[in-house]
Amino acid sequence: MDSEQLREYGHRMVDFIADYYKTIESFPVLSQVQPGYLHNILPDSAPDHPETVEQVLDDVKTKILPGVTHWQSPNFFAYYPSNSSVAGFLGEMLSAGLGIVGFSWVTSPAATELEMIVLDWIAKMLNLPDQFLSKGKGGGVIQGSASEAVLVVMIAARDKVLRSVGKNALGKLVVYSSDQTHSALQKACQISGIHPENCRVLKADSSTNYALRPELLQEAVSRDLEAGLIPFFLCGNVGTTSSTAVDPLGALGKIAKSNEMWFHVDAAYAGSACICPEYRQYIDGVETADSFNMNAHKWFLTNFDCSLLWVKDQYALTEALSTNPEFLKNKASQENLVVDYKDWQIPLGRRFRSLKLWMVLRLYGAETLKNYIRNHIKLAKDLEQLVSQDPNFEVITPRIFALVCFRMVPTDDNDEKKCNRRNLELLEAVNSSGKLFISHTALSGKIVLRCAIGAPLTEEKHVKETWKVIQEKASCLLPK
Ligand code: PLP
Repeated sequence: MDSEQLREYGHRMVDFIADYYKTIESFPVLSQVQPGYLHNILPDSAPDHPETVEQVLDDVKTKILPGVTHWQSPNFFAYYPSNSSVAGFLGEMLSAGLGIVGFSWVTSPAATELEMIVLDWIAKMLNLPDQFLSKGKGGGVIQGSASEAVLVVMIAARDKVLRSVGKNALGKLVVYSSDQTHSALQKACQISGIHPENCRVLKADSSTNYALRPELLQEAVSRDLEAGLIPFFLCGNVGTTSSTAVDPLGALGKIAKSNEMWFHVDAAYAGSACICPEYRQYIDGVETADSFNMNAHKWFLTNFDCSLLWVKDQYALTEALSTNPEFLKNKASQENLVVDYKDWQIPLGRRFRSLKLWMVLRLYGAETLKNYIRNHIKLAKDLEQLVSQDPNFEVITPRIFALVCFRMVPTDDNDEKKCNRRNLELLEAVNSSGKLFISHTALSGKIVLRCAIGAPLTEEKHVKETWKVIQEKASCLLPK
């Protein structure tokens, strides 16, 4: 690393990125290129000799940016947000600059210790029970994604139960969740070797706003016990991906506890909102959980990737995931004086991700973060009202956080298939306009449009304009 070259190029790169943010609204939010577009305009092989930064940045402008979907645009409302911020950006820069790989404490003590400290800080902001803090058996860890988080706790839970009932019982282990649970759970089951017939996907419908009914869980568990199976893992949701449904954690946790199941709570999106006292109620019952996950890279101003996982029993993780090869042995680890995060995750190597989270917490502070969340929720509330005032539209599930689920209503013939088609046409029309990007889901057979407000640059004017575009496009689709 040549310091002077870094200084010169680094300044130029920061200028380039700052200019990108200045002009971000001029790009179509959803990239409009066709598949394979880049193959047609980039060379077939890598250059033999160095090129200049200017040449590369020119290509970024003319060839890469057309193929970028602008997640940081104030008009990005699809999926869930993936926040970027100055603090998060600086933290990423610092992490890249230091270039450490902190798999064991000894490989960079600050990386492990800062991660433990910031995870404790956020656990306190969320008012998580003390058992999730690092001072006892519990603690937090940064994973790359919520999918990795649920996978590692499932492996921990699986091995814990197999240690007591014997390895041959793998085929009897049963996993429970609602049908609104993210597909990351299915993937975790596949990787963990859970028999596909032993994944209970319990129906949640509009009668509970898509929350899992505890009676359904109890019935399924009882049936499985009678059949000689072993219930071992329950995934509850706070803020489902389709519609932000919130499962009744306390009641579900009670059933999990009385059947000695591991209870994981997925709050990947909505966890961030629970730092606000008025939204903390949505994780009431988390005291019954064994693990809890929230993605700081969604709605917490922390650049991707940064998925926070807390467990009450770190040893369940390390017993399942630890390795101790000669080439990694060191005094601190051998004497059990330290946490080695390599034993809490799938890969060995890990980035210094806590730096960006620490930067976010320090440069913004808890109060700014709370108000940031509150502002998005207010904007979503306003949009929900606009939708409900328009007779051509309906709100499909009551908004809880900053996601509005809505659709164009069926016309006089009440033909649901036609209505679904029309909503997909509307989706295509608004997204191909380049002015905004929303996404969709299906709830009880209805195609539903999702507008998730949560990009850091989104203001009231963007939401109003978005609604105007949606109304205009919808008017072209209404029967004449
Ligand atoms: N859980 C929920 C509720 C989500 O909304 C998502 C993604 O949007 C995930 C899990 C998966 O997240 P990741 O991409 O971090 O694996």
